[in-house]
Amino acid sequence: MRLAGYGGVSRVLDRECIMTSTISRPAPQLGDDQIVRAICGLRPCRHGGLRLETEQLGEKRVVHHYGHGGCGVTIAFGTTSLIVPMVESECDAKEPVGVLGGGVVGLVTALSLARRGHPVTIYADKVGTETTSVIAGAIWLPVGIEFGTSPTELQRRDEILHRSFETLKSLDPRRYGIESLDVYEPKGTQTEEGLFSPGLIEEPELIDSFPFPCVTAAERRFRTLYIHTPRFLRTLIEDLRSLGVRFVTARFGSHTELQSLDESVIVNCTALGSRTLFGDDAIYPARGVLVHMKPQDLGYCVHDGYKYMFPREDALILGGCFQPDRDDDRPDDEMIREILGHHRRFFGSACGVG
Ligand SMILES: Cc1cc2nc3c(=O)[nH]c(=O)nc-3n(C[C@H](O)[C@H](O)[C@H](O)COP(=O)(O)OP(=O)(O)OC[C@H]3O[C@@H](n4cnc5c(N)ncnc54)[C@H](O)[C@@H]3O)c2cc1C
Repeated sequence: MRLAGYGGVSRVLDRECIMTSTISRPAPQLGDDQIVRAICGLRPCRHGGLRLETEQLGEKRVVHHYGHGGCGVTIAFGTTSLIVPMVESECDAKEPVGVLGGGVVGLVTALSLARRGHPVTIYADKVGTETTSVIAGAIWLPVGIEFGTSPTELQRRDEILHRSFETLKSLDPRRYGIESLDVYEPKGTQTEEGLFSPGLIEEPELIDSFPFPCVTAAERRFRTLYIHTPRFLRTLIEDLRSLGVRFVTARFGSHTELQSLDESVIVNCTALGSRTLFGDDAIYPARGVLVHMKPQDLGYCVHDGYKYMFPREDALILGGCFQPDRDDDRPDDEMIREILGHHRRFFGSACGVG
């Protein structure tokens, strides 16, 4: 069996050696005294996948940019790279553009347009760390979204993923809160199609034990980017302010209210808001509950479908669930118990419980 990546070493090891070399990381502490809060967020999913297209509404050209589902942090830079040429085909160079929405998609869109010299105004009722985007862990994985299966759709998916991955890797990791982390999966983890096929993150390797004390059987390990979303979103806002982007707090009840805006081209990044604002019935929420524990510097993630553990700098995040068409955004006691129970059973007594 190949055991790659620890301290830059990649070699063939026998079982005894794997066991010795792998017990090198701590188990998390998951006692009640570590619980900080539970939160709930709604992923902006869409039947048929992303909406990236332009529509004429009254006097305005509206470029739709939404439907990022469970991976908006993963793909925002990639989808933005497709949106920018669409915007620029609707307006003159350096013409002002309005961006509707201040989650990760709106912020990244505004940043790309401002860097190309467009005066940009962001209109949103909430921005950055007040939006769903801060709820994301966020691990770099293209999950919880339909990309389609035709050759053209797969080509577009790969373009989005490549551009996003390359941009995130090019950012100052400290400033933006981005790092590369090992992700461990137990036996039987359900995985979505296409996670590794674009070749951006290495194919997982099979392992027969975890590098931390644990009572669950191990299956595989891979390495991907991890984005500390609070820091990431705050830094994007800092960048936007330094480029002179204006932030206007506004809540729109219908798209006819957009007619009073100064800009003739508007990029719609309102995610779930597009259901009422633009009458898009294809968009739907997929509910996720997370438990935040006190921060613990573990240096690895555990991933078991939507039951995951991420060591974000402000909290150890325990997930979770993916409940389509549930739009109650309050964490419920039953799900909190299920999440805590799952992770405590996973680690056994090593996590300080039982
Ligand atoms: C529990 C959970 C875990 C997740 N984990 C990950 C992960 O590990 N990795 C990953 O990549 N992604 C993850 N995601 C998905 C990610 O959070 C979303 O895909 C992303 O936040 C979508 O960003 P957005 O900017 O499109 O939407 P939002 O962040 O929802 O922003 C929408 C914006 O539009 C504004 N708006 C909406 N309607 C109106 C209106 N009528 N008037 C004015 N403003 C309006 C809002 O105020 C907000 O500013 C997770 C999501 C959840 C819920």
